[in-house]
Amino acid sequence: MNFEKLNRDDVRKDYKLIKTRLNEISISKHVIEKINIEINNIKLILKNIVTIKIHGSFATIGLYKIDSDPKIDLLGIVHLKQSMFDVYENEIDSYEHFDDCFICDYNKIVYEKLFEMYKNNDEIEVEWQNQTISGNLFQDNIIISVKIDGKIYKIIYRSCLSSKKIYKLICVRNVYRRSFTLEYVRNYKILDKLLLKKLSFLFYEIYLIAKNNGYNKMKLLYMKLAILSKLQWFIQQNNIYMRTWTSSLFKMFFTKNEVVESLFTTNDFYNKNAKLITKIYRNVKFKKFNWVYHGMFPDLKNFVIEFTKYAEEHSSLRNVGVENNERSIYFIYDINAYIINQSKSKNILVHNWEKKIEDSGLKVTKKYIYPDNTDIGTFMLFAIYYHMELI
Ligand SMILES: [Zn+2]
Repeated sequence: MNFEKLNRDDVRKDYKLIKTRLNEISISKHVIEKINIEINNIKLILKNIVTIKIHGSFATIGLYKIDSDPKIDLLGIVHLKQSMFDVYENEIDSYEHFDDCFICDYNKIVYEKLFEMYKNNDEIEVEWQNQTISGNLFQDNIIISVKIDGKIYKIIYRSCLSSKKIYKLICVRNVYRRSFTLEYVRNYKILDKLLLKKLSFLFYEIYLIAKNNGYNKMKLLYMKLAILSKLQWFIQQNNIYMRTWTSSLFKMFFTKNEVVESLFTTNDFYNKNAKLITKIYRNVKFKKFNWVYHGMFPDLKNFVIEFTKYAEEHSSLRNVGVENNERSIYFIYDINAYIINQSKSKNILVHNWEKKIEDSGLKVTKKYIYPDNTDIGTFMLFAIYYHMELI
């Protein structure tokens, strides 16, 4: 894609600054390696029981040298049939807990395995912890304390249930809750890459603000979530760069008006198997919007000023109890593009697809993006959002 409108020197200068800064604040490569070795050992010993995924700070370059109590979060995923998953999900509203709860059972099995594995190791300690989350919510954690260069790094393990749905289910002793933590990591990684690590840089600033003001962990997390959600939403709102981007795609793939029109003559809409269309759709996925993000946030300093201010304002809304929409966090699950011809004929495929999303409880927004030359077609972008629940 064409980058000529960007000032390459500025981008390079910012990127160099970001890399230097991240090197200064991040825990050393040697420590990261040691932690990864231990995570791999844990994965190996539990491989027939659960699938291990990393979430939290360690997964999002958010573990810093100045942390006095560094933690690494692991999820042990138990895959369930959809019908069984639904049984557990239905209990969220009832506040019931099964006596033979899978999650609690798996925690016990995993604890025994890990305890056995490390019992003769003087450097590593395994313990069971009941942690208070908030009010009367408790969570069972398994903590693997690893000593590296005289400092204790705590690897925290929890079990969760998984199905085809985008969230997992966790057990907060006697109550079930949805967990979006892996989706958070996925969205973070995509955005950080699109923004050439500007997000990692910004999150350290946010971390310092929280530390200096004595904000709790929940408020810090909320500030970060608000930023991610807002960054995604900008794609929906932005016309200038999205329009240039889609116009370039149109020009690249459709050299003549007739090409678009001919797509509709055979099938009213489009033939999904056609190679050309597949290529275009692959370029309209969220992770392909590098150029759009570079254009929208060319300057590191302004980016940090704008979003630290936004995070502070948005998180104080949460404190004063502003309800519903204003403090809700929405995330993009996926973006789908459809090409429409001049007459904007709507197709049955879209209706079916909308229905499916509605059944899953996801929210869909539509956006029309017109290329420079409106004589050819139009892109219609469907962004699928989900509401992120916070415990
Ligand atoms: Zn349980």
